[in-house]
Amino acid sequence: HFNTMQNHLDILPKEEWLNKDQKPYYIFGPCSAESPEQTMETAKQIAAEYPNATYRAGIWKPRTRPNNFEGAGEQGLDWLKSVKQETGLKISTEVADAHHVEACLKAGVDVLWVGARTTVNPFSVQAIADALQGVDITVFIKNPIVPDIQLWMGALERINQAGVKKLGAIHRGFHFHNSEPYRNLPRWEMPLEMMGQYTNLPMICDVSHISGKPQLIPSVAQKAMDLNMQGLMVETHITPEKALSDAKQQITPSSLKKLIDGLILRSPTA
Ligand code: PEP
Ligand code: MN
Repeated sequence: HFNTMQNHLDILPKEEWLNKDQKPYYIFGPCSAESPEQTMETAKQIAAEYPNATYRAGIWKPRTRPNNFEGAGEQGLDWLKSVKQETGLKISTEVADAHHVEACLKAGVDVLWVGARTTVNPFSVQAIADALQGVDITVFIKNPIVPDIQLWMGALERINQAGVKKLGAIHRGFHFHNSEPYRNLPRWEMPLEMMGQYTNLPMICDVSHISGKPQLIPSVAQKAMDLNMQGLMVETHITPEKALSDAKQQITPSSLKKLIDGLILRSPTA
């Protein structure tokens, strides 16, 4: 029975999980958890405006070049746990292997995502799928860094075949040697093709990794909403200029509020 799952994903209706308390679905928080204070203070400011948002913070950071900040590691899960207890926000982080998945499940992480550097590798995706076998958790799959739609589809199918039914995709743009003015070219036709292939697949736009700079974020976010995507991921940091990763693209919680207030959202009946 090869290929029986092709172009079919067994996903729960998004009104039952993704858009239960919020529409659009928001994932806000820093690129990386850097310290207990930075993790908590950013979360408190986000929770004050968006209590139904999911809080993001990278714990294990896959940096392109070595000798950069590689993430706080497992201690960061304790910081995220405190965020969940004190603010009530749902917590999320990136997983790249089975050990990450197990540590997150133990810590009560609500939402996992597979990063763009992992989606390209079916061995890694399958190891994550095996660790998620039969687990009831929300998982998002970022598009691979290269514009290969089959890899993106394959990763979604592997995780879905493990039994994950709260499943969505994140569009974070595609890497080209020169993609100015973007950090990663959006190539909007690719997420649109995914939304056509799997009509029940939620699509979240990671506006930060597409834009690479705050100035581009509003237009990218508006475009995602105009294309009827289900939500936004925005990297948010209390002091972006001091961030240990992706300092150039992160915005403050007050800039985040301006961004969201400025969006023109489709009416539910449109
Ligand atoms: C991130 O979300 O901080 C990240 C590393 O993203 P990506 O996998 O899309 O590069
Ligand atoms: Mn980042």
